[in-house]
Amino acid sequence: MRTPVDPRATWDLPAPGAMPRTADLEPLVTRVLAPNPSPMTLDGTNTYLVGAPGSGQAVLVDPGPDDPAHLAAVEAALAARDARCVAVLVTHHHGDHAEAALPWGMRFAAQVAAADARVAGPAGRVLEPGDRLALAGTALHVVPTPGHTADHLAFRLESGAVLVGDHVLGRGTSVVTHPEGDVRAYLASLRRVHDLGPSALYCGHGPELTEDPGAVLDFYLAHRAFREQQLLAAMVRGAGTVDELVSDVYAEVPREVWPAAAQSTRATLDKLAAEGHVVLESDRVSLP
Ligand SMILES: [Zn+2]
Repeated sequence: MRTPVDPRATWDLPAPGAMPRTADLEPLVTRVLAPNPSPMTLDGTNTYLVGAPGSGQAVLVDPGPDDPAHLAAVEAALAARDARCVAVLVTHHHGDHAEAALPWGMRFAAQVAAADARVAGPAGRVLEPGDRLALAGTALHVVPTPGHTADHLAFRLESGAVLVGDHVLGRGTSVVTHPEGDVRAYLASLRRVHDLGPSALYCGHGPELTEDPGAVLDFYLAHRAFREQQLLAAMVRGAGTVDELVSDVYAEVPREVWPAAAQSTRATLDKLAAEGHVVLESDRVSLP
């Protein structure tokens, strides 16, 4: 059982905390980093402005926390692009991505669109897989990416870049939440994004991944398979509960992310149980 190697280890990525507040990633895209860093949100939430240069318009993807400093930074980035916000898109319902969607949609008089009707709001648009959104002089394709959450979407841009929300993170790996998330759906979503041959991954947290996006997706798939093997090995060593598995398999990661690790572990055990590799009864797990 070999530990999968993260291809980003040799990339020239900014150190944690060193990402610029605002960055133009390509002519279509400006990123604004929200001031909400934490072990779970890494450098903070990335809010993206997408629009054709000269269109005078931009779409806001994942407005993030409803924070006055973040709003000021987003409005400054809109002004720098000489653009007004014409729509607010949300990758998934988690508050660090969606909290500002309705208040800012109201402020900009822009429609909110998301897969979850509660996020889109009463005047919003509920997005469906395969939707093509012609907005701000460009087109965004709605790519279903369930797994982290059930409602998760990615947005593929005309440049070939994909806004991936929490499906793929700029550093480390993502969490399959429990009970909402689904490991098998997550793996299928990773392959779906891989099949798009993305030119870049613009993540919900952490730096943009441009050097070899396919290699990162391969690593994510290998990492999930590795975690399954680790869980089975820990059970052979005697671990019999979710907590025992987490303290064994995640011994090297900070304890503050163990609750998230427990969710991914529980979600992975659901997959292993469905495949007949383990027997799961509440929080107790055994080999068949
Ligand atoms: Zn999330």
